[in-house]
Amino acid sequence: APAVAFDGVSFSYHDGTPVLRDVSFSLPRRGLTAIVGPSGAGKTTTFQLIERFQRPDAGTVSVAGHDIAALPLTELRSLVGYVEQDAPLLRGTIRQNLTYANPGADAADIARALRLASLDDFVAELPEGLDTELGERGAGLSGGQRQRLAIARTLLQRPEVILLDEVTAHLDSDTEAALRDAMAEAANECAVLAIAHRLSTIRQADRIIVLEGGRVRAIGTHQELIGSD
Ligand code: ADP
Ligand code: ADP
Repeated sequence: APAVAFDGVSFSYHDGTPVLRDVSFSLPRRGLTAIVGPSGAGKTTTFQLIERFQRPDAGTVSVAGHDIAALPLTELRSLVGYVEQDAPLLRGTIRQNLTYANPGADAADIARALRLASLDDFVAELPEGLDTELGERGAGLSGGQRQRLAIARTLLQRPEVILLDEVTAHLDSDTEAALRDAMAEAANECAVLAIAHRLSTIRQADRIIVLEGGRVRAIGTHQELIGSD
C-alpha cells in the first residue's frame, strides 16, 4: 500500500468555500515529494487532512493502506510524523526532545538519528552533550538545526510518512545543505511530504505535486514538469 493516498478528496471550511477539489495522489513508501503552489492553494489543509485535524467532505485519505476515517487516532498519530516550520523545541534536554515520541529509543537509535540530522558533531561539542538543556533559546541552535533536530525526533518515531513544512527564513548554504541531507536520509526510511519553499528542495524531490486553487495541477518529477536545466 502507498504511504499516503488521497482518492477524490474534496474539502471546505465551515464558510463553504471549497479548499480542496477532487484531489487524488499517492505517495510510495520511500522518497521525497515536494508540494508546491501559491499561498492559499491548500497545502496546509492537505497536511491537516492527513493528520485528521480536518475530515474530507468527499473522498478518502489512506495511510499505509488504512482509510484514516476508521483508524484509531493513537495509531494514526504513530504513523504520521509532523515537522513544523519553526520546529519549536520542547522544554528539556536534547535527549528528551529526541525521544519524546519513542521513549524506548536506545543509544544506538539516538546516535543514528543525530547522524542523519548532521547534528552529531554539534552535540559532541556541547559540554553536556545530549543532556544539554535547550531552554527558551534552544541552546544556541540555529533555525536550520532546530528543524533538523525536529526531523531526527520525528524519525525516531518510525512513522510511515513525515510531513515537513519547510522553513521560509533565509538559511546559509551550509545549513541548507545539511537540511537537504537530512531530508534525503529521512526519505530513505519513509515517505517525506514537504511543503517546499526552496528551489533546491524542489530539485531534490523525487516527485512534485503542484496545487493551485485546491486542485492538483500537475504531478511529476522536476524534469517532467520543468524540463532539464
Ligand atoms: P496554503 O497552505 O497552500 O497556503 P491553506 O491550506 O492554508 O493553503 O489554505 C487554503 C485556503 O483555505 C485558503 O483560502 C485559506 O484562506 C483557507 N483557510 C485556511 N484555514 C482556514 C480556516 N481555519 N477557516 C477557513 N478558511 C481557511
Ligand atoms: P499560520 O498560517 O499562521 O502558520 P496555521 O493555522 O498554519 O497558522 O498554524 C497554526 C499553528 O499550528 C502553528 O504553530 C503550526 O505550526 C501548527 N500547525 C499548522 N499545521 C499543522 C499541522 N498540520 N500539524 C500540526 N501542527 C500544525
